[in-house]
Amino acid sequence: MSETFRLGHIFGVRVGVNWSVVVIFALITVGLAAGRFPLLYPDLAAGAYVAAGLVAGVVFFASLLAHEMAHAVVAKRNGVPVEAITLWLFGGVAKLEGEPTTPGADFRVAAVGPAVSLVLALVFALLGLLLDAVGAPELIVGVALWLGLINAVLAVFNLVPAAPLDGGRILRSLVWWRTGDRTRAAITAAHAGRVFGWFLIAVGVGIAVLGAGIGGLWLAFIGWFITMAARGEEDYARMSGTLAGVTVGEVMSPDPVTVPSGTTVDHFIDEYVFAHNFSTFPVVGESGNPVGVIALRDVKAMPPAQRAQTTGGGPGRSTAVGDGGDHRAVGR
Ligand SMILES: [Zn+2]
Repeated sequence: MSETFRLGHIFGVRVGVNWSVVVIFALITVGLAAGRFPLLYPDLAAGAYVAAGLVAGVVFFASLLAHEMAHAVVAKRNGVPVEAITLWLFGGVAKLEGEPTTPGADFRVAAVGPAVSLVLALVFALLGLLLDAVGAPELIVGVALWLGLINAVLAVFNLVPAAPLDGGRILRSLVWWRTGDRTRAAITAAHAGRVFGWFLIAVGVGIAVLGAGIGGLWLAFIGWFITMAARGEEDYARMSGTLAGVTVGEVMSPDPVTVPSGTTVDHFIDEYVFAHNFSTFPVVGESGNPVGVIALRDVKAMPPAQRAQTTGGGPGRSTAVGDGGDHRAVGR
């Protein structure tokens, strides 16, 4: 879902579009101009249907952008930097450069998106009714009503409590708030995401088997995407949960075997690499202070002929660095 071309900055947030948006835009426009509109409002000029389809498609994407922009603005206000918003195949995604630090912030960032979609649904529905009341052409009323409907669908679908949907984030924030355990909350939301993803796949395949092929496959595809994303979120939550609060001191190998910087590489291989089961050794100077590290792969990259003349001071040098040139080891 990377950015194919950039639309610009809105409220200081970079907005980009992935090429796959073209596919969904075409599906929506053609579906409306050649399907829904001629069916509901027959006997109009073909150009009118195409124009109505294009307008509805463009305003739909503007609605999607408003949804994502709401996530981004609230995230920034809660101290979470936002990298960019990208529109793609399955809608939009606001890329946050971090995670909300409290359950309350997590809830606000997640809930504002569906809230904006819900408000847009009401606004377009009311606009449609108003246009109808003043006797506007039925196709124009139809565009407004469809925009109300699609925004309502967007809000409801996103509220399903399953990661990575907004409802999953809301579920995460509530479990986090109740238990105080962010990792457990994220895993709960991810599990729900996998269940919902498999449910959509099953329903989609069922629909495809019963005959409505494309729609069913599309649903199964969305289900598969949700399942994959939920699995990724669970792995991430488990990893960051396991490592939370762990210090490097707890992970490191204590009391490492050190190599004097004047040691030649062939001596290092004989006396250190083969004798100790480490891949990396700290290198110490004359006074015992650390001056660097030497790893097995540094040595592997060096031609054997060079190893006898080269010391721990660095490949290509014949004297050690930082200790006045200790050559005792050379030639052994
Ligand atoms: Zn959202």
